[in-house]
Amino acid sequence: MGPDGLPQVSLIRRGVERWQAGHPWIYRADLNGDPALQGGEVVRVTDARGWFLGKAFYSKHSKISLRWLSYEDVAVDTDFFRQRLALADAMRRRALPGETTYRVVHGEADLLPGLVVDRYGDCLSVQFLIPGTEQRKQLLVDLLVELYKPRAIINRSDVGVRALEGLPQEKGVLYGTQPGPVAYDEGLVRVRADLLEGQKTGAFLDQRENHIMASQYAFGEALDCFSYVGGFALQLATRAQKVTAVEISDQAAAQLRENAASNKLTNVDVVVANAFDFLRDSVDEGRRFDTIVLDPPSFAKNKDAIEGALRGYKEINLRAIQLLRPGGYLISASCTYHIDEQAFEDMLASAAADAKRRVQIIEKRGAGKDHPVLLNLRETRYLKCFVLRVL
Ligand code: SAH
Repeated sequence: MGPDGLPQVSLIRRGVERWQAGHPWIYRADLNGDPALQGGEVVRVTDARGWFLGKAFYSKHSKISLRWLSYEDVAVDTDFFRQRLALADAMRRRALPGETTYRVVHGEADLLPGLVVDRYGDCLSVQFLIPGTEQRKQLLVDLLVELYKPRAIINRSDVGVRALEGLPQEKGVLYGTQPGPVAYDEGLVRVRADLLEGQKTGAFLDQRENHIMASQYAFGEALDCFSYVGGFALQLATRAQKVTAVEISDQAAAQLRENAASNKLTNVDVVVANAFDFLRDSVDEGRRFDTIVLDPPSFAKNKDAIEGALRGYKEINLRAIQLLRPGGYLISASCTYHIDEQAFEDMLASAAADAKRRVQIIEKRGAGKDHPVLLNLRETRYLKCFVLRVL
C-alpha cells in the first residue's frame, strides 16, 4: 500500500528503463514479483527502492501489466478523467475546427489507455479495452454526457483484444436509446452508419480526411474496393463520372446504396463481391478505370501473418495498377500496423515493376489528426494511405 492508499507495484531495472524510454506500457516480466491484485486497479508504481515513477492501470490477465496514466503524483479521480477528456477534446477542436465527427479519445495516444471514444455528431460510440476502463465505465459515461450532452452513447466493446484482458465481448446502449443509423457530414456528403450493428465503432473515422482528399483526385471511371458504407465511394462520386463500389458484406452494401441515394448520387453502382475476385476478373475482361481506391481490412493481426498479408496487398495493388489508364490515380491504404510505411512502399514498388508501369508517389498520408500518433508507441502509427499516379 502506498502513502495515498493505492496498491503499490515495483519494477525491476528493465521496467524502469522502459519507463525512462517513454514507452506507455510495462510487461509482466518487468514487475518486481506478482502483485496480489484483481486487475483494473489504479496502482502507484515505484522502482525497486520505492522511488515514485507514476500511476498506472493494472491488468492481471494481459502480458501488458501496467499502462501509465500519470507520471506525476496526482490523484486519479473523477476530475483527473474529466481533465484528460477535456485535453483530448481541445486538440480536436483546434485541429478540426467546426467538426462534430471525430475520434475524441485514441487510447494511449491521449493518455487514456484502454479507451476509445468516437463522436458522430450527437452520438458517441465507445470501446473499453482493459479492466481499468471497463470498471470505470459509468464514471466515463457520466463525464462524456457532461461534456457532449449526446443523444446516445453506444458501447462497442465487442473486440477480440478484450479476450487478452480476460474480458468478454460486449455491445449495447449505455446512454439514451438505440439511435439506428446515425448521420454525419463528410465533406460535401452525408453518411449514415449504424453505430451498434456496423463495423468497428460504426465507421472508419481514421480515413475521414483521406476520404475528402480522394474527391480531389477522382475523375472518369472510378472503382472503390472494400467500400463499407461508402467513405471513399461517395466522395469519388462527387467528381467521377461513374463509381463501382465493391463490398463483400450485404449489410454494408445496403447502407452504401442508401447513402448514395440520399445524397442524390445516381452514379454509384454497388457490387456485392469479393474484391480479390472482382479485380482479377476485371483484368481478365480488359476493363479500365481512371481512379481506384483500395482500403482493405487488416490482413495481418500478428507478426507471423506478415508474409501472407504482403502477398495479399501485392495482388490487389498489382491488379489495380494494371487496371488504370495512363494518368490514373491509385489511392492505396493499409491499416496493418505490422507492415510499416517502408514495407508498404516496397510492396507497391514491386507491384509497379511486375505491372511494368511507372508510378509516381503524389502523397503519403496516415490517419486523420484526431488519431494522433504517440511517439514511442509504434502501434499508434498503423494507417498508411498513398496517393499514386500511374503513367
Ligand atoms: N473503405 C471503407 C472502410 C473499409 S473497411 C471506408 O473508408 O469507410 C474494410 C471493408 O472491406 C469492410 O466493409 C469489409 O466488409 C470489407 N471486406 C472484407 N473483405 C472483403 C473482400 N474480400 N472483398 C470485398 N470487401 C471485403
